[in-house]
Amino acid sequence: MSRQVTHRYVDPLTEVWLGAAADVGLRVARSAAAYAATDGAGTLTIGSDDTLDADDSLAQMIFHELCHALVQGEASFAASDWGLDNVGDDDVWREHATLRLQRVLAGRYGLEAFFAPTTDFRAFWDALPADPLADRRDASVSHAIAGLHRVGRPPWAPALEDALAATAAIVAAAAPFVRTAAGVAPSLAAGFRVPAPHPTGLPAGPAIDRRCGDCAWRHATAGGRRPRCRQAGRAVDDAWPGCERWEPTLDCQACGACCREAYGAVAVSARDLVRTRRPDFVVDRGPGGAHRFELRRAGERCAALTGGELEAHGERRAVTPYACVIYDDRPRTCRDFTTGSAHCLTARRRVGLSL
Ligand code: SF4
Ligand code: SF4
Repeated sequence: MSRQVTHRYVDPLTEVWLGAAADVGLRVARSAAAYAATDGAGTLTIGSDDTLDADDSLAQMIFHELCHALVQGEASFAASDWGLDNVGDDDVWREHATLRLQRVLAGRYGLEAFFAPTTDFRAFWDALPADPLADRRDASVSHAIAGLHRVGRPPWAPALEDALAATAAIVAAAAPFVRTAAGVAPSLAAGFRVPAPHPTGLPAGPAIDRRCGDCAWRHATAGGRRPRCRQAGRAVDDAWPGCERWEPTLDCQACGACCREAYGAVAVSARDLVRTRRPDFVVDRGPGGAHRFELRRAGERCAALTGGELEAHGERRAVTPYACVIYDDRPRTCRDFTTGSAHCLTARRRVGLSL
């Protein structure tokens, strides 16, 4: 008597990532004719299992493509191949941004080795520093950071992080059962460990010599109380290791975020000297004869901000130092804006300079 088959076996990890893709709005198709492609209409085509390397998986491929979408933004779901030019080299730096983001996200769950890419870009992945976001002058870093800010928003949330957590749980459960025969490449699950969280609850940072005590977001408090962290919103211990959001001393001349697209108009009051000393930088936007003075804007930035011009195109973003040409006469709003403040953090996040 023949048995009636009512269900089919699907690899649990595959199940997780097919479900995550569906929740994000993607239908996954398999084809030997494509390595990875999107049609801009909701279909993500991934190479069939026989076309993937032995150390690759459908799960990693879907994760990688979702990282592309994070870097490219919401509108990329309506473009084929996330709007990337896969023929020439113009978008190589965007691939690098995706790999940096993928490395950080995977690292939060201890999956850097398990979810490593296997294409020609593997060499770039293997050469990434312990902190893939360390060089904030690199365009691929700021785009990776912008993508990381999208992780907690729809359509990626909560599916993407839920899938990463489920992957870590599956790999952690499998790791004790790994047996490696002589002459056979070990399983990717071999030796897997869930990383210890940072004491603040933020993602842990790379295992390099960084401490809360030398972080730009640590700030002293009055009355001999413990220092606090702008990122975590709580007290920290100077001896704690740096978390994922650790940054060194902030350099305004390399940043300029608060004077460019991060914020809009800067109000100028009757008392601000800039109105009389540098009237060419002040405009009156008051309606119907009522005065409302502001600093003049030049596109998305304050007209008094100089510098920041790109000296070279491409991945390395060599910019001339930012400076304020009315610094001594700047309005109160600018004087009150302090480096390392909560507003400074907001500005840097908006331009992709801080997590
Ligand atoms: S952002 Fe800086 S101060 Fe805050 S927890 Fe991380 S390393 Fe410590
Ligand atoms: S105050 Fe903060 S946001 Fe403004 S230029 Fe300096 S580091 Fe950048």
